[in-house]
Amino acid sequence: MHPPADADARRAIAPVICYPNDSLPAPDLALYRAARDGADKTGEVLVPPRDARAFRVPAGHVFRISPVEGPQVGDLNLWNAHDLSERFYSGKSRALHGTHLTTGERMWSSFPHLRPMATIIEDTLSWYGIDQYGGSVHDVIGTRCDPYTGNLLSGTQYHHCCHSNLTRALAYETGMSLHEAEPHVHDVLNVFMCTGFTRDTGQYFMKASPVRPGDHLDFFAEIDLLGALSACPGGDCSSEHSSDAAACHPLLVEVFAPQPGALDGWTSPPVNGYDRSHGR
Ligand SMILES: [Zn+2]
Repeated sequence: MHPPADADARRAIAPVICYPNDSLPAPDLALYRAARDGADKTGEVLVPPRDARAFRVPAGHVFRISPVEGPQVGDLNLWNAHDLSERFYSGKSRALHGTHLTTGERMWSSFPHLRPMATIIEDTLSWYGIDQYGGSVHDVIGTRCDPYTGNLLSGTQYHHCCHSNLTRALAYETGMSLHEAEPHVHDVLNVFMCTGFTRDTGQYFMKASPVRPGDHLDFFAEIDLLGALSACPGGDCSSEHSSDAAACHPLLVEVFAPQPGALDGWTSPPVNGYDRSHGR
């Protein structure tokens, strides 16, 4: 196809940020961090390699995800603990904050709720920034590794992709069957994963995660949460996923309860204010 005469001029138009994020309500990070600093640990869940576990976090509590033995990527799903139809909305979180999340940014919930489910209050990998390949950490651009894509591309039957791990974990936690649980699994926050899009072909890429034992990501639960975390079969995602080839390590989820009074004046965010009449 021949380009039009003004092709260069059209390409030269400067981009406009879709959602200027200075209009987003800012989280009170000082309050959240002070609550965390005085908090008591109330529980922990160790997620085995190539598997997932569910966990619950009451509103106002903090949860921390950390690798314990070596570099490991995690796939995180979040639901409203009382209504699984309200779940993490990766695409809108990406539209609001960008391709990768870090300190002060939020995991937003699906329509019609569209409210913060969790706020990242500390990210020990925030130093990484955006590397020379356009890669960064904790993306909301991937989906989750799954057995259907593996079957499509190479005819495999692999059962420990994050999609299946999350399905098993949710089924076990809720008592649902696997077939009942599966439709609740959704696109993830790729915790500790280093990803981007190639500049020349626009393809999704991954590279070895910079995470090391001692790093962590801390989240403030804005509402009562049911979470599930999969320790991806890709390990640090330096080579491949959707197989048992990569070195994999456990991930630790710890939950902390703030002291009474530490969150005085704070309440869970209300559901979105749109009236849902849709023009009728
Ligand atoms: Zn995975």
